This record gives sequence, C-alpha cells and structure tokens, in this order.
Amino acid sequence: MHDILIPNVNIGLVGHVDHGKTTLVSGLTGTWTDRHSEEMKRGISIRLGYADATFYRCENHEGGDAFSTSTECPICGGPCSPFRTVSFVDAPGHETLMATMLSGSALMDGAMLVIAANEPCPQPQTKEHLMALELVGIKNIVIVQNKIDVVSQADALKHYKQIKKFVKGTIAEDAPIVPVSAQKGINIGALIDALDTYIPSPERDPEARAQMLIARSFDINKPGSNWRDLRGGVIGGSLTRGVIRDGDEIEIRPGIQKQAENRSFWEPIVTKVVSIHAGVHKVNEASPGGLMAIGTKLDPAITKSDTLVGQVAGHVGELPPIRDRLLFTVKLMDRVVGSGSELDITPLKHKEPLMLSVGTAVTVGVVVNTRKDQAEVVLKRPVCADTGARIAISRQVEGRWRLIGMGILAE
Ligand code: GDP
Ligand code: MG
Repeated sequence: MHDILIPNVNIGLVGHVDHGKTTLVSGLTGTWTDRHSEEMKRGISIRLGYADATFYRCENHEGGDAFSTSTECPICGGPCSPFRTVSFVDAPGHETLMATMLSGSALMDGAMLVIAANEPCPQPQTKEHLMALELVGIKNIVIVQNKIDVVSQADALKHYKQIKKFVKGTIAEDAPIVPVSAQKGINIGALIDALDTYIPSPERDPEARAQMLIARSFDINKPGSNWRDLRGGVIGGSLTRGVIRDGDEIEIRPGIQKQAENRSFWEPIVTKVVSIHAGVHKVNEASPGGLMAIGTKLDPAITKSDTLVGQVAGHVGELPPIRDRLLFTVKLMDRVVGSGSELDITPLKHKEPLMLSVGTAVTVGVVVNTRKDQAEVVLKRPVCADTGARIAISRQVEGRWRLIGMGILAE
C-alpha cells in the first residue's frame, strides 16, 4: 500500500449554510457527503460529512496549474503523480447545528472557511464558525471565496475587500483567499496549492499515549444477516496522538451507562481491534491525521447509530479520567455572534445551563460555582478529557445555543 494514498491530515469545511461546502468536497473527492434522507430532503448538511481525496501533480506545469485530483492532467493530458491524501470533515452551516460543527472542529488540523461571493460578507455563521476556529485554536486556515461564476469581476473584488476587512484582527488575518467556483470546478488547482502550503500535516509522536476522538459509530451488518457472518461494532474518528494497531486491546471511555441500586454510573468498554480502514484502504495501524474506521469485537448494538460519538478510545488504562463535573478557567467573548441581534455576553450565572464541547463530545451541564474567571459545571453526561483540554462554551440566547467563549480544563 502506497503511503501517499493514506490520509494524514484532516481539513474541515466551515462557513455559512449554502455557501458551497458540500459542493466543494464533492468536487474534490467525488463524494456527496449529504447522504441521509433528511439531508437530501432539506438540501442541507445535518451530520458531519467525511470524504478523502488524493492530490496529484503534473510535471509539465507550474503553480496551481500543476495540481488536480486526477491521475491525468486536466490541461495537457499527461500523467500526474500523487503527492498527498487528505480527509475532509464537512461541517453543517445551519445556525441550529453549531453543536455538530463544534464537535467536528475537534478533528480539524486546519480548515477551509467557505464564503460565497454572491452575498455580503460576513453572514452570521461565517462569523460564528470563524470564532469557533479561533476558540478551538485552529490556526491553519484557507479562505475559499466561492461562487465566483455568478458574480462580475468588479463585485468579486468588492467582496474580496469585505473578506479582508472581516478577518482583520482575527486568527484568519493572514489566511490566503482563493477565489473558486466549486460547482464549475474553476481554480481548484490553486486551492490545492494553498492547502498544501497553509495546512501542513500534523507532526506525529508514535510514542505518545494513543487517543482517538470518536465522531461516528456504526453497526455495519445488513438487517437479517446470518449470525455466523455478523461483524463487530465499528468506531470512526481521528487519532489526536499515538498509534493504534490491528490486534490491540483498546478501551473506550466513558463507555456504557449502567444501573445499580438506584445509582447510575459509566463503565469503560474494553475490546479488541480486528480491522482498521483509512477511507477505502485497509491498513495495519491508525495514526494522527486522517479519518479512520476501527472494527472491534463489540456487540454492534453498542456502536449502532452513532451511540459512541464524543467518546474517546485508546489503550487500556491509558486514557484521561472520566469526569462528571468540569472545573475550568473561562474566557468569554464580548458579544454573541451568529444571530441578527448581537447581544452583549454577560458573566456566567449560578445554576445556568451550558452546552460544553470537549473534543468531539457535546454535553449539557449546570453551573454550580463561578468565581472570577473560573466555573464549575455538573454534567448530565460525563466526558473523558485531560487537564488542559479546550472547552467551547455555549449558552441559550433567544432560545438557541450560542457560542459565547472558551474554557481550559483546570484539574
Ligand atoms: P453548504 O450548505 O455550504 O454545504 O452548500 P452546498 O454545497 O449544499 O451548496 C448550496 C447551493 O449552492 C447548491 O445549490 C449548490 O449547487 C450551489 N453552489 C455551490 N457552489 C457553487 C458555485 O461555485 N457556483 C454556483 N453558482 N453555485 C454553487
Ligand atoms: Mg453542506
């Protein structure tokens, strides 16, 4: 198996609904990531979408012209060689789906902020998603100015200036802005070039304790399969560090909720890895960068329908603690972005409900303690997280969860 065909970086797609994220992934990978019936019906992404693409280079050209996703050069027809494979994480842009976007952002090594040129910039979720990247600490950003096929050159330039003004003073201030048409396939080579320069693959430390953030979990058996053919549960996601190998014993935390003597508690799951897939490729080990699917010996009832999303997998006894309360330092933004009325953000209040995103986990809790820049929250569902983990904080504003700041897990 050629290593170049195995993804080694996750690139997120973020931005306002309908600006062309799913179309762009489809243009780059040939995969339409809105697969679920509800997504087809409503024409919007609801879950996180995933697809891999291999980038190719033609030796006969320079710059953006040299790059494509094809083994034959789209310009001269000559042979191209593969040089990089990436996984895309396609986040939903609808304002009600921020929790899913935040969960996806935990997997992103870098992101494309997709901004449609035929609408004034910024739109509400253009702002909110950029703020999320900033809070989660995603610095490697490429701005994609999409839909240039439907605007005049003069309007595209005007829009470009709006983008420049919008990103000034933000984490994306120096990000390149690449004009494209995702639908017509215009300037995609230049985009691949920018991704190569600005979103490098993360460094690996194979010695680190493995940690996989689970973003999907499945039962891959067809209904009515013979028990003899039954295959174990599958978890999908990305390693943030370390290596998991075929045959390893792994633990999944927090695990399964159990009941005993009127008390409920969470019990970690221990199982064995029986297969690892990176996209369509079967591999012997999973390492950081790229989305992986790990087959286990678990009863598929445990993994079906994304039941394990937000949990963490690693080697037995090596995972961070399971926490049902979080103590963290708080940094709040000044104003709520993402909705029409940009209200001021007031300090956290005692007994206030919050939505907290930690890794791919999204959990709701109640504030039991606030003092100065610290807060303590009791969670409805526990999370598995290390001291120092970043926490995206959302609160109910006008009936919706809105991102208001970030926290760092204290102890
Ligand atoms: P998402 O919500 O950001 O994932 O947006 P989609 O990819 O679902 O696209 C929303 C709509 O914009 C669809 O009707 C697309 O066909 C259209 N669209 C996407 N990219 C382009 C483009 O480059 N040019 C034009 N004219 N339309 C586009
Ligand atoms: Mg979409």
